[in-house]
Amino acid sequence: MATWIDGHLDLAMNALSYGRDLLQEVALLRGREPAELAPARGIATVSLPEMRRGGVAACAATLFARTKPGMPAGLATEKTLFDWPSQTMTHAAAAGQLAYYRVLEGLGQMKILTNRREMQALAKVRGLNAGAQNVRALGEADTPLGIVVLMEGADPIVQPPEVRLWWERGVRMVGLAHFGPSAYAQGTPSRSAPVEEREGGLTGKGRELLAEMAKLGMGLDLTHLTDRSLFEAMDLYGGLVCATHSNCRSLAAGYRQITDEQVRRIAQRGGVIGVALHNAMLISATGNGPGGEWEAPREAVSLEQAAMHVDQICQLSGSAKHAAMGTDLDGGFGCERAPWDVQTIADVPRIAEWLEKRGYKGADIEGILWGNWWGFWERVMPE
Ligand SMILES: [Zn+2]
Repeated sequence: MATWIDGHLDLAMNALSYGRDLLQEVALLRGREPAELAPARGIATVSLPEMRRGGVAACAATLFARTKPGMPAGLATEKTLFDWPSQTMTHAAAAGQLAYYRVLEGLGQMKILTNRREMQALAKVRGLNAGAQNVRALGEADTPLGIVVLMEGADPIVQPPEVRLWWERGVRMVGLAHFGPSAYAQGTPSRSAPVEEREGGLTGKGRELLAEMAKLGMGLDLTHLTDRSLFEAMDLYGGLVCATHSNCRSLAAGYRQITDEQVRRIAQRGGVIGVALHNAMLISATGNGPGGEWEAPREAVSLEQAAMHVDQICQLSGSAKHAAMGTDLDGGFGCERAPWDVQTIADVPRIAEWLEKRGYKGADIEGILWGNWWGFWERVMPE
């Protein structure tokens, strides 16, 4: 069983918005959920026992709560269980998600990584520094899952200077927006979005936030930004940049994916790009989903397509040091919209076989599976 790192999982959102107890088996989570919920939230694919089984050593786990000022009061739907009408409420919701990670940490299930010392301690028990043969999967040793806390969409930060408070609480990476407008930047548009939403950039508050983040050394996650927001953010931000769950637009059409030029620029900055396993981000899809969203036929997509995105990132950046996994499994979709050979998160490391078929070998595959994220996190972390 290969050990690997997932660069993007919405663990706390699943627990606190969907009521999924992540200490339970995936089969049990599935059994608890009525089938009619599946189109909106997906079929459960991730839980801690399944991550252990699948060799996940660590992941970036999100705080995911959005501010949607226009939403009708008290009328959350299955699709808006993480939305709040004001940033003050969004802040509190994200703080609750962080509390969930801390509870699991108290139980020895997780270790929130906030500095290099903590990373080294985890690397020691997991053998992460010692080369492939010595790497121990989570299931083999009774060691906690390493967690880097990532804020997906900065709405929980009520005012830019408040980002310091979140840093002190353990957050080490922040993305500015999710789908649609946020207080800080225009996020990736939906298919039906008006033109101005496709072309929007950073807000004044967004520029201020980047300045505050730079003082702290926060990692900037460029995923979910419109093209203009992404380039503006890269030009303004001198700190470390990555894209935790972004695929290549040259292989899968759509604004949610990043262009070849964006891939090259992120790589030139030493950034890492995590490949996501939503089928509509892996092949060019059509808008046939229940809400008009992009859908791709499941039988047409396997981990081979994910390996093609990894390969494309490596070709564009001229090295295997910038591609990684950022599956986003259970990030509003489950195995029903993931490659057909992924039943649960434990199937993901089989991508290594497709990488081998494309000519990738030992150290490069290890880098893609875990080393590239680990190295990036080491640069983000203080001593
Ligand atoms: Zn996302």
